[in-house]
Amino acid sequence: MSFEDLSLNFQEINPELTKQEAVEEANRCLYCYDAPCIKACPTGIDIPTFIKKIASGNLKGSAKTILSANPIGASCARVCPTEELCEGACVLNHSTKPIMIGNLQRYATDWAIKNEKVLFEPGKKNGKSVAIVGGGPAGLSAARELALLGYDVTIFEAEEKAGGLNTYGIVSFRLPLSISYWEVKQIESLNVEIRTNTKVGEDITVEEILKNYNAIILAVGMSQVPALGISGEDLAGVFDAIEFVKETKTKPISNQLIGKKVAVIGAGNTAIDAATSSVRLGAENVKILYRRTIEEMTAYEFEYEFAKQDGVEFRWLTAPLRIIGDEHGRVKGIECIKMELAEPGEDGRRRPVPIEGSEFTLEVDTVIKANGQSRYIELIEQFNLEHDGGVVFINPATYQTSNKRVFACGDVIFGKGQGEAMVVSAAQHGKESAYAIHQFLNQSLVKTALD
Ligand SMILES: Cc1cc2nc3c(=O)[nH]c(=O)nc-3n(C[C@H](O)[C@H](O)[C@H](O)COP(=O)(O)OP(=O)(O)OC[C@H]3O[C@@H](n4cnc5c(N)ncnc54)[C@H](O)[C@@H]3O)c2cc1C
Ligand code: SF4
Repeated sequence: MSFEDLSLNFQEINPELTKQEAVEEANRCLYCYDAPCIKACPTGIDIPTFIKKIASGNLKGSAKTILSANPIGASCARVCPTEELCEGACVLNHSTKPIMIGNLQRYATDWAIKNEKVLFEPGKKNGKSVAIVGGGPAGLSAARELALLGYDVTIFEAEEKAGGLNTYGIVSFRLPLSISYWEVKQIESLNVEIRTNTKVGEDITVEEILKNYNAIILAVGMSQVPALGISGEDLAGVFDAIEFVKETKTKPISNQLIGKKVAVIGAGNTAIDAATSSVRLGAENVKILYRRTIEEMTAYEFEYEFAKQDGVEFRWLTAPLRIIGDEHGRVKGIECIKMELAEPGEDGRRRPVPIEGSEFTLEVDTVIKANGQSRYIELIEQFNLEHDGGVVFINPATYQTSNKRVFACGDVIFGKGQGEAMVVSAAQHGKESAYAIHQFLNQSLVKTALD
């Protein structure tokens, strides 16, 4: 496949609505009183209002309605599992088919992007400052709300560009880089300083941050894919799925990146993104190996369907035992074992156990590990915060951690049974932690005045 063909494979797959399609779809909306779609949106976007504005040709107003509730509403229009959220709740599910809320949201926010509209103004300065560690969906949303409230906001971002997994983690054929960059620019236009290439704990100390800001938000998300703990993980041709997707988003697309026969370990959204990217890079056979069954798979239904359409093969109840290398230190196979499900474990899920004597070998030249994400425990401990295996404890009403000046939101508080890691939830938690800081700092002021 030529470079051009490969690059085309990474262009956004879903076509945008035409003006006529958007207006016709908007006119199907019943503009329900007490609309269930609003309740089903974690950021509470006033969906009937933005749809009505599309129908009347007020696209700027429509985009503003969306983005005032969700600072990263252009990304969410593309990556939200809408069938589980707003579209799943649409009353029209009972009669015809739900309104294409995600596509309409994309139509309105794309208009703002194409017309370079800056939709918000920073608030009047209130003399207080907040440091945000991590410039992903959670950090950016918190920054936007704090800037509107007049805070001096500095985001510290380890990577070269802000945007978190929207920039580096979600494949470009679902979320192009340009969308994430535009959202970052919107936040910067509110005088939020984003210090990129600045890893807190290495390039700047935690003490410095605690000393120099009135409040701090920890929004670092999760870290790399953890080791599988089997032999052969250091062979050439073994990838971390998140690093692999990052390469496809930041480097020229090349069919040299991976081989032709790929095994992806895991069955979450990251695994699907890695598998479908592999197909688009020209791999001839891509298998997802998962030690449980389709019932326990964590990938969204639409992601699963998408992978199947791409020809990805699913091997359920299959666990890797070791990765086999050739004499040049390159992957040449993976030894696996068949599993069966036993009684539920502590987490309530049925435990997979190996079936003795069922070992077999698959011939592959690439292995992509997508078995979850590890946590930034070292950084969390530098902040001296209480946590459970890297899931930071917060007061759910205030987002305050065990240090009352430090708040936490996004993926860093998800896990261990708490919430679901989604872009839209990270955005909402970012907003809520900003309001909690506002309340906390104002209460602190009142208290100081009374003391
Ligand atoms: C491959 C993949 C696909 C996904 N697909 C979807 C999807 O389709 N739909 C959906 O809703 N969700 C999806 N998710 C989940 C979603 O991306 C996350 O829930 C969301 O990005 C969490 O936002 P966050 O801001 O908490 O963390 P992140 O997006 O991880 O951002 C954290 C930021 O903190 C920075 N950081 C980390 N450590 C430091 C430090 N020490 N100093 C400074 N900065 C630091 C990081 O560089 C990063 O920019 C996907 C996740 C993955 C991995
Ligand atoms: S539930 Fe459906 S029909 Fe009703 S307002 Fe929401 S999108 Fe429109």
